[in-house]
Amino acid sequence: MPQLLAGKTALILGVANRWSLAYAIAQAFIREGAKVILTYQSDRQKLTVEELAADLKAHQALPCDVTQDSQLDALAAELKNQGTILNCVVHSIAFANREDLARPFVETSRAGFALAQDVSAYSLVAVARATAPLMAAKDQGGGSIITLTYLGSTRVIENYNVMGVAKAALEAAVRYLSYDLGASNIRVNAISAGAVKTASARGIRDFSKMLEGAAGMAPLKRNTDPAEVADAAVFLASDLGRGVTGNILYVDAGMQIMGFARTE
Ligand code: NAP
Repeated sequence: MPQLLAGKTALILGVANRWSLAYAIAQAFIREGAKVILTYQSDRQKLTVEELAADLKAHQALPCDVTQDSQLDALAAELKNQGTILNCVVHSIAFANREDLARPFVETSRAGFALAQDVSAYSLVAVARATAPLMAAKDQGGGSIITLTYLGSTRVIENYNVMGVAKAALEAAVRYLSYDLGASNIRVNAISAGAVKTASARGIRDFSKMLEGAAGMAPLKRNTDPAEVADAAVFLASDLGRGVTGNILYVDAGMQIMGFARTE
């Protein structure tokens, strides 16, 4: 079978460990023939991400804390020096203070709100601005930027709190970025993934109950497999997704359509 991403290069931000959604996406991209470049946030994660890159057979791992414009500039400069032309960028990054995911939303501090917005929403804008000039020319396929979001952007999910508001901003940013970058044939989309047990997800209070509830309620009667999220990312990164931009693609076993259902 032909590989869907043969000849394409993807920059993937947000691999922390083997459970990261970005790890599943990197695996799927490499399976489909892409050259994959990973990033790590700081020296603390360097060795781990370099080992993961070696296991995945990724091309390399470069530093990038998305809250630091200087690091985004350095990353773009390094890729440009190497002569890298990007076809896809995956932004799989979020952060909020643990206490803001445990107490009532009304008690969110100004600083906690700003931090969640900066890391989880604004960073997509900063990443898009830094990497758009490295994307393939519009008649060479342009580029695809993919971010990860969650249903808590539009519905109240208990304990998701400040992150739900950050995801709402992220999804709005997807629409504005797709409008700005569309003329360069750069597409911007989000995958709204169902709940998956990852390091970030463990920061949400009662996350296991959320998983249980979703499996009982979702039309497919099960939780989301990271490989399903990854395959949707392959579609958006590939030429098959060439007409799709500004979209929120739900890969959540159908959970987003539900209002109420009895669970056994
Ligand atoms: P994860 O493995 O913990 O990934 C989150 C990543 O964000 C980590 O690699 C983390 O790096 C990185 N990060 C945080 N702050 C950063 C910064 N300042 N600079 C660079 N990187 C930074 O968890 P995940 O669940 O796969 O999350 C990936 C994305 O999927 C997030 O946007 C999340 O909201 C979204 N999502 C997750 C679920 C779910 O149920 N798991 C569902 C829907 C959407 P470090 O570990 O090095 O800090």
